[in-house]
Amino acid sequence: MQNEFEFTKTEKVNTDLLDRVKNIYRKISSAAIRSGRSPFDVKLVAVTKTVSHERIQQAIDLGLRSFGENRIQEAKEKIPALRDYCPSCETEWHLIGHLQRNKVKTAVELFDMIHTIDSVRLAEEVNRQAEKHAKVQRVLIQVKLSEEETKHGVEEKELMGLLKTAEACGNLRVEGLMTMPPFFDNPELAIPFFRNLSKLKKRAEDAGHILPELSMGMTNDYEFAILEGATMVRIGTAIFGERRY
Ligand SMILES: *Cc1c(COP(=O)(O)O)cnc(C)c1O
Repeated sequence: MQNEFEFTKTEKVNTDLLDRVKNIYRKISSAAIRSGRSPFDVKLVAVTKTVSHERIQQAIDLGLRSFGENRIQEAKEKIPALRDYCPSCETEWHLIGHLQRNKVKTAVELFDMIHTIDSVRLAEEVNRQAEKHAKVQRVLIQVKLSEEETKHGVEEKELMGLLKTAEACGNLRVEGLMTMPPFFDNPELAIPFFRNLSKLKKRAEDAGHILPELSMGMTNDYEFAILEGATMVRIGTAIFGERRY
């Protein structure tokens, strides 16, 4: 008799999605090796904003475990349901969008890692909520490296001060830096931004901070980001296709 579980399991695999994910892992591995590192040193964070529960479930079925959302409201509807979909999968959820102080409580309840700490006040509020929830919140500091008005992030000259404050917070674990360069049609133009964030990381490490993670690189430019030292790439479109808002 046919094993029903095995049958439904193979039926569930979405081959288009699988092909795209395989292709991305191939490129991640190749870029990691070219940068003198192991493919295992680069984490793929699948960006699921606007993506339906069903499609995210398919991604979980394929073996993806780390996901990124940028809006609290959307995350509230998705994350608990998707954790329930496969509790033993232990999916990991990353907040990659700007965080307002009045949403910090929910963010701390939902997310394993917050990539977008960009001010002392925000760091302190996340610490306060994490303490209330008896949690050590993993965070990254978002750095603003371009002059664009729309981009969030701490200014380069204020980074060291923010790092010191955040590291002194007992319920925060600061694991690294994140940035988002402007969008360029030619992804090579993002390289100087990635290189700059790498330099800031080295400078902070020389000053005694321990910052293993660099979150940088999206669909268009992740291979360049990895060549410059990215340890986390945040990829949406290349996995799930164009977003429909
Ligand atoms: C949407 C988003 C991404 C993913 O963008 P793609 O180009 O679809 O890969 C990565 N990082 C942040 C902060 C985002 O908001």
